[in-house]
Amino acid sequence: MSDVRQLYQQIVMEHYRRPRNHFRIEAANLSAEVSNPLCGDRITLYVRAHDRMIVDIGFEGGGCAISQASASMMTSAVKEKSLDEANLLCSRFESMLRGGEDYSSNLADLSALAAVRAYPTRVRCALLAWRALNEAIESAQTARADAP
Ligand code: ZN
Repeated sequence: MSDVRQLYQQIVMEHYRRPRNHFRIEAANLSAEVSNPLCGDRITLYVRAHDRMIVDIGFEGGGCAISQASASMMTSAVKEKSLDEANLLCSRFESMLRGGEDYSSNLADLSALAAVRAYPTRVRCALLAWRALNEAIESAQTARADAP
């Protein structure tokens, strides 16, 4: 195993053991609950958004190291970003995992998950938290469209 690969695994394990933003946010105004039955991963995402900015974000859940580390990294990456920036990051991360354009040099810790590209079932684990983010952001847009 290359040193780089080993370093990436260490980053993933470190996020898994000490997840960032691993809590429920009582004042959340957006949330989403997603699961990956193939692996038993579950994530409930809480977002407090104000003026289309992510003021606070947290998650609860359980499952494999990749799904939980990815949730920890995702919440750290999008905290204090706008919903549009979060959407962009989401599509870049997905593209990285699906073998599309490689933005990994701009993705900091998130690029540690690029290694799962080779394992399609693990890609689902890595994308789970991002799916939750997508759903939460979409629910914000629906709510806005419904507003008078
Ligand atoms: Zn998993």
